[in-house]
Amino acid sequence: MSAPVILWFRNDLRLADHPALQAALATGAPVLPLYVQDTQDRWALGAASRWWLHHSLAALTADLRARGADLLLRRGAAAEILPALAAEVGADIVFTGAPTEPAERARDRAVAEALQADGRALRRVRTTLLFPPETLRNRSGKPFAVYTPFAKACLAQPDPPPPSPAPKAIPHARRPAGDTLESWNLLPHQPDWAGGMRATWTPGEAGATARLAAFAGARAARYGSDRDRPDRDGTSMLSPHLHFGEVSPAQVWHATGRGQPVFIRELLWREFCHHLLWHHPTMPDAPLRAAFAAMPWRDDPAGLRAWQRGRTGIPLVDAGMRQLWEIGWMHNRVRMLVGSFLVKHLLLPWQEGERWFWDTLVDADLGNNAGGWQWIAGCGADAAPYFRVFNPVLQGRKFDPDGAYVRRWVPELARLDTRFIHAPWDAPASVLAEAGITLGRSYPHPIVDLMAGRDRALAAFATLPKG
Ligand SMILES: Cc1cc2nc3c(=O)[nH]c(=O)nc-3n(C[C@H](O)[C@H](O)[C@H](O)COP(=O)(O)OP(=O)(O)OC[C@H]3O[C@@H](n4cnc5c(N)ncnc54)[C@H](O)[C@@H]3O)c2cc1C
Repeated sequence: MSAPVILWFRNDLRLADHPALQAALATGAPVLPLYVQDTQDRWALGAASRWWLHHSLAALTADLRARGADLLLRRGAAAEILPALAAEVGADIVFTGAPTEPAERARDRAVAEALQADGRALRRVRTTLLFPPETLRNRSGKPFAVYTPFAKACLAQPDPPPPSPAPKAIPHARRPAGDTLESWNLLPHQPDWAGGMRATWTPGEAGATARLAAFAGARAARYGSDRDRPDRDGTSMLSPHLHFGEVSPAQVWHATGRGQPVFIRELLWREFCHHLLWHHPTMPDAPLRAAFAAMPWRDDPAGLRAWQRGRTGIPLVDAGMRQLWEIGWMHNRVRMLVGSFLVKHLLLPWQEGERWFWDTLVDADLGNNAGGWQWIAGCGADAAPYFRVFNPVLQGRKFDPDGAYVRRWVPELARLDTRFIHAPWDAPASVLAEAGITLGRSYPHPIVDLMAGRDRALAAFATLPKG
């Protein structure tokens, strides 16, 4: 048997439209598919992502086996595992994707050096983005810092190449001994917690393909009018599939196309966040606008806990946080709202929200999450101005006019008159009694007065050095 090549899967857990897999197949050599769990990372996977990864790797293994190959699992430092494995099986080339996360890039460098020292090579082939973040530049030749010109530059490029189908067969290499998926203990110790996620999602390429097929067409056509409505099925819910690479952005682009410009522009936000992460690797930890390091954040563990558990007494905030806890995902408009509430009304550091999202989102993505939080806090590239403080009552009335979203996720408010669903504290005692609500007992009083919280935030932001 000729020397194999190794295909090192990253966040590209699919077989269709996978340029690194295609490059591996083009060598004509047997392919040894590998996934490494390298836990040496400050941003090690959160609990919801670990749940997703378990199921996604199980699905990938089954898909590979159906084509004659098998997935090798190894755990440890990639810079040690890859050279040792290449020597063990006699592989000269390792093919892999080209991630943007700082720890993954450091891993790539270390693996490439270690392989090179043995006369072997790491070939990085882009698998997760439409446009290479290292090549896009603004008119001054610098990386983009503003979304609109970034999106314009992307849209001026030709369409990405049409996606390629999954190979029918993969010439397999001998698979040395590896770990079992179960031994990685990725599933939560409290199985009940994953119930909502199990009912909502099908991790893996088949689930991603089905989700895309269900969205492309009529739902994509309604996206422009429905996407801001958390009470409707208005967005694609493709984010975890895109994050884990179970579907490629080119597949999504071609399934919807330039004919859906509003949707394509959201897909380009993902490209923008990864462009920023590539050029600002400290983005997950430090504000892009340095002045924000001096922000007089509060320390309020009880407030943080109430926010995390959806017990703030502000219905739309609580609905979003409970949706997140139940199914590992939250609607984008509500993400902005709960983020603004944490950072502005509660004056708690955006990094606290980022960490909680990281642990609980099935689509937790270093670039998109940091980009979203910095945008909300006002300290990111092209961020919302700091004085923009979302009012959760007005947002609720506008985007969840009948209160259906609140009723679904905060069942103790389900019977409340629509006029008060977003502000139960304004309801007369008789209306509350009729709905079976006792504020302070069956549902909390607001943990912050919305006007006072807003004023406190504006005063704190005003202390920052100008410019
Ligand atoms: C505070 C905050 C944190 C966020 N954290 C994450 C995160 O960890 N992971 C994540 O994938 N998205 C994150 N987002 C962005 C956005 O909320 C989600 O991508 C979106 O809600 C996913 O739902 P969808 O797939 O139905 O999106 P759709 O509206 O159908 O959009 C299609 C795809 O475009 C991309 N996209 C859409 N909006 C954005 C955006 N604002 N920024 C970057 N990419 C976008 C996603 O990949 C999404 O799947 C965050 C937003 C905020 C405000």
